[in-house]
Amino acid sequence: MDNLLNYSYEEIEQICLNLGEKKFRAKQLFEGIYQGKKISEISNLSKDFKQKLLEKYVDEPIKLHTKLTGKDGTVKYVYELYDGNIIEGVYMSYKYGNTICVSTQVGCRMGCKFCASTLNGLVRNLSAGEILGQVLFVNKDNNGDLKNRKVTNIVLMGSGEPLDNFDNVIKFFELVSSEDGINISQRNISLSTCGLVDKIKEMANLNLQITLTISLHAPNDQIRKQTMPIANKYSIKELISATKYYFEKTKRRIVFEYSLIDGKNDSFECADELANVLKGMVCHVNLIPLNQVKERGMSGTNRKKAYAFMDRLNSHNISATVRRTMGADIEGACGQLRNKIING
Ligand code: SAH
Repeated sequence: MDNLLNYSYEEIEQICLNLGEKKFRAKQLFEGIYQGKKISEISNLSKDFKQKLLEKYVDEPIKLHTKLTGKDGTVKYVYELYDGNIIEGVYMSYKYGNTICVSTQVGCRMGCKFCASTLNGLVRNLSAGEILGQVLFVNKDNNGDLKNRKVTNIVLMGSGEPLDNFDNVIKFFELVSSEDGINISQRNISLSTCGLVDKIKEMANLNLQITLTISLHAPNDQIRKQTMPIANKYSIKELISATKYYFEKTKRRIVFEYSLIDGKNDSFECADELANVLKGMVCHVNLIPLNQVKERGMSGTNRKKAYAFMDRLNSHNISATVRRTMGADIEGACGQLRNKIING
């Protein structure tokens, strides 16, 4: 079933005209769905018009299944899609703004050995409107509207590999940053990828202002191959060269995610090697001790060692910080999001 959130303002105007309605109805319809309302709830549209819309478009693209609030205030949202599939997302409030982490696929087919999102493979891609729907839902749930937004930053770091759902993700960027809609600046959006080199280059050519985040997690191909199957397809050398191309085109600083796994990638030798790989780049490294995923049997580096790793990178003039882990008590931290409800 189709979803009205897949369409731009002009496209919604056309939809109204095609259904025999006046053009100005588009404004009422558009405002209604962007306020996070169901089609059936929009009170200034006729019953007859809504009936026609509901024959083609889903009434409530993103339905709340469960909401969990962690000790640190992080909120995990579990949503149900129109076909019964489940996805998860996270909302975090910081001093400088409110960040929402969205999913781009139900499941994932990248197979990273430390991540919960890929345990059951890929179920399906999310449409642009289903990704946007998560943002609108959370904005509404926190009493925001289009003028007073309660979502200021977006990270594509929920379940799924965004560049494996390229067209829908690009359409989402256009919709979410459009002045007609919720108008979130592309500079406040980060796309995280395990490193689909060809797609990184393709995105670089689109002249967007999105921050590119690379899940690197290893200083060399040999270690990377042990945890990330994508490393068999693209070498770190190719990946770094694609990120340099992205920087040349967009002038956006590249962020590297590096999850520290006890005894695997957290030695000083690894830090030195990583510094060498990133030498001369305009970049930042986010270090995150691996979060526990019970099926995975790997543990995170302790915080003391993580800070030592950070200092070692800094000593090579590489900008790096250790990220706070947020939402771990509600399984809302990096790598813990799934497409299944787990009990206990
Ligand atoms: N598929 C994309 C988007 C997912 S973002 C990507 O790979 O970048 C989720 C981030 O959390 C990625 O950097 C991912 O590698 C990381 N991650 C996955 N499992 C993790 C875990 N158990 N602990 C910490 N980070 C993890």
